[in-house]
Amino acid sequence: MGYMDKYIRFLTKYIKLNSYSCCQPKERRIKQDLEKLNLFVYTDRLGSFSYGYDHPMRPARLRLTYEQVKRYGLIEEENLIEPREPTEKELLWFHTEDYLETLKKADSGILPEDAARYGLGMGDNPVFKGVFQWSLLTVGGSLLAAEFVSSGKSDVAFNISGGLHHAMPSRASGFCYLNDPAIAIHYLLRQGKRVAYVDIDAHHGDGVEHAFYRDDRVLTISIHEDPTYLFPGTGFPHQMGEEAGRGFAINVPVPPGATDVVFLKAFEEIVPPFIEAFEPDILVTQLGVDTLRGDPITHLELTTYGFETMVRWFKMAGIPWVALGGGGYNVEHVANAWAMAWAIMNDMDVPDELRDEPLEREPSEKHLEEVEKTVTFLKENALPLVKKKG
Ligand SMILES: [Zn+2]
Repeated sequence: MGYMDKYIRFLTKYIKLNSYSCCQPKERRIKQDLEKLNLFVYTDRLGSFSYGYDHPMRPARLRLTYEQVKRYGLIEEENLIEPREPTEKELLWFHTEDYLETLKKADSGILPEDAARYGLGMGDNPVFKGVFQWSLLTVGGSLLAAEFVSSGKSDVAFNISGGLHHAMPSRASGFCYLNDPAIAIHYLLRQGKRVAYVDIDAHHGDGVEHAFYRDDRVLTISIHEDPTYLFPGTGFPHQMGEEAGRGFAINVPVPPGATDVVFLKAFEEIVPPFIEAFEPDILVTQLGVDTLRGDPITHLELTTYGFETMVRWFKMAGIPWVALGGGGYNVEHVANAWAMAWAIMNDMDVPDELRDEPLEREPSEKHLEEVEKTVTFLKENALPLVKKKG
């Protein structure tokens, strides 16, 4: 019996994995269409930027991911596409003019005079040579992915450089300068789409939530390490949207030290019922892998099996899918997990070499209870609001 089968037997003591296929009515599922082409958005240029030798964010992880995908024969030349340049107008859908002006100045690598006001130049968000160009590529990649999925040319498009979910309208934050998920979702809204954004990064997807906090056309769901202990300090269950968007911002904190079972419990109790109630046209996912144990800046204990299970659910949901990268500061983990995600997106077998050693540790009862409490709160207070408008 393979590792995965054995581990699934362990997980099913706690998680109803088989119910994962029930969530989309059959007719909403994507039909197999040979004309369609799934896209992997990437250019070698991405790997040439550097946040600084001692910064945890390493753009080189993107090159390593692409190399893993190639090494295991998971990609054809025709799947590969380079990001395009976003226009100023597209950036202005989320960001302010003065912030963009300053970020453009910072591209030289020299700290602009008013940098501090925009969160630039401090430890997390250094000004480095090409910082604006780097950020443009991440946004252009996500826009391209959104265009191909929205037009129906692709069922899935994966921009591994995207998912920079912390950037605010006029402030760099948490290694993120431009908020590519928010801008890509704005594009989708302009095409008349209803968008569900699901963020499984270890950190709260605060910038994306902020963009649509009063908007019922976008459902944002973020599962993350308890913000009492981790940046950015927001993302508590009661922060569930305002005005028309009340009930459409869902936050599920999990305790530090949470394992696959605890994180998956939160996922399976929240993601399927909310997606089913909301009925999105497009699914946008932020696939941060700083949840994996051994990540140097977070305190979660997931394995690739937990990550794989969630990616398989996204695939099974059968909703046109814009997949974005995100956090992940152990570069080997990142390369393996995202190569695995790409294999699943394309119905290919996942090479066992990409998987962790399984960790069959019984979950903490206290962790499960905490998640249960959050789930109950959200199902009582937010789900009825989504159902009513869905
Ligand atoms: Zn993160």
